Amino acid sequence: MINKNKEVTVIIGGGHAAGTLLTALLQKKYPHKVVMVSEEPHPPYQRPPLSKNYLAGEVDKASLYLKPPSIYEKAGQQLRLGVRVEQINRDDKNLILSDQSTLKYDQLVLATGSHVRRLNVRGSDLKGIHYLHDIADTDALRRELVPGKRLVIVGGGYIGLEVAASATKQGVKVTVLEAADRLMQRVTGPEISEFLYAKHTSAGVDVRLGAAVIGFESDDQGCVNGVTLADGGKVSADIVLVSIGVIPETALAENAGLLCDDGVVVDEFTRTDDPDILAIGDCTRHHNLFFDKRQRLESVANAVEQARTAAATLMSEEKPYDSPPWFWSNQYDVRLQMVGLSQNHDQRVLRGSILDKEFAVFYLCLGHVIAVDAVNFPVAFMVGKQLVKLRKSVSAEVLSNPNIELKSLI
Ligand SMILES: Cc1cc2nc3c(=O)[nH]c(=O)nc-3n(C[C@H](O)[C@H](O)[C@H](O)COP(=O)(O)OP(=O)(O)OC[C@H]3O[C@@H](n4cnc5c(N)ncnc54)[C@H](O)[C@@H]3O)c2cc1C
Repeated sequence: MINKNKEVTVIIGGGHAAGTLLTALLQKKYPHKVVMVSEEPHPPYQRPPLSKNYLAGEVDKASLYLKPPSIYEKAGQQLRLGVRVEQINRDDKNLILSDQSTLKYDQLVLATGSHVRRLNVRGSDLKGIHYLHDIADTDALRRELVPGKRLVIVGGGYIGLEVAASATKQGVKVTVLEAADRLMQRVTGPEISEFLYAKHTSAGVDVRLGAAVIGFESDDQGCVNGVTLADGGKVSADIVLVSIGVIPETALAENAGLLCDDGVVVDEFTRTDDPDILAIGDCTRHHNLFFDKRQRLESVANAVEQARTAAATLMSEEKPYDSPPWFWSNQYDVRLQMVGLSQNHDQRVLRGSILDKEFAVFYLCLGHVIAVDAVNFPVAFMVGKQLVKLRKSVSAEVLSNPNIELKSLI
């Protein structure tokens, strides 16, 4: 793809994927001019702390930045912050920006990420209802997390539960409302769901399962003061956080006529159906060689791997993206690490002790390890990563036997 006549590479978006791509291009001494356009006022930063230690006030804003901003400038990479790309003109190969300027590109990389899924029910625009996706969202929520206040979290997924843990530690009274019959149902098996349920309830969180929200109640000032459930129940609230997932940000790509299917469709080299446009991170649905199907993933690991692949593609190096997905979550003293996708398992094997808060669940399909969820058990995660990558066949007896060292399995 590298071509001396192609001089300007523009990256749209300033999140984890865009930031990693900038660094990778720098390391590879990419010979062309690079401009990143982001609607956020910050240089590329990491979002995981927004629901963890940044929300808890344990780290400052500057520590979120992937690199000090001066690094990009020194390398001649231009960051245009606080500006939104409104339109891609593929015929003229230029972009229309929200400050009315146009920007020419030769190579374009879409790193537009995702936006939060909104809950559209009665009262959903009341004051005091929060969503969590960027620094401003966390700052706004944190200001309201005062000891004794009642926070209701709609959604018992990763982010909702991380906020529950952080807010509880700050003395806030937390209720979690989850519509499914167990926590994190979409991404994990019952052992982890039940463990987290016990962890949160013992910390004082009121966790309600099978609780579907149908509306919000208001006080005289138009502030939320309660949540109405489908079964007629009501939960009092001073603050509400809605955390019910994200939607890939594909509007620009769709309007430009690029192939999209719940994500910008890309191949294993991050190429879209336009030879001059790549796409990376949360906004994509990529051809995943590991699963041999199109897959959409919302994780830092995916953003980082795809950014590195895109850097290689821009340098005309053929380096396909081919690794199993992995995730993590921190809640209280629990470090949860997950690799693979467990949905299609036909057997689960437990190793370690749930009581001692150090265990792992291995998910098997036709005898092969397809996923591992490890709680405070880094060795199981590390070995699990290899087993999943190699699609290793290991018997349940071996996996659960504490006398057989996990490391001996790889
Ligand atoms: C609170 C929170 C906690 C998380 N915790 C974890 C975790 O523990 N582990 C994990 O693996 N993942 C976690 N994630 C998910 C992870 O952060 C995302 O998967 C990752 O940020 C995706 O990176 P990205 O660059 O693709 O998208 P994003 O980080 O969403 O960045 C996209 C950027 O593009 C900008 N943009 C969009 N459209 C335009 C436009 N038209 N013009 C200009 N700019 C535009 C957006 O404003 C945004 O800055 C968390 C996410 C959140 C919100």
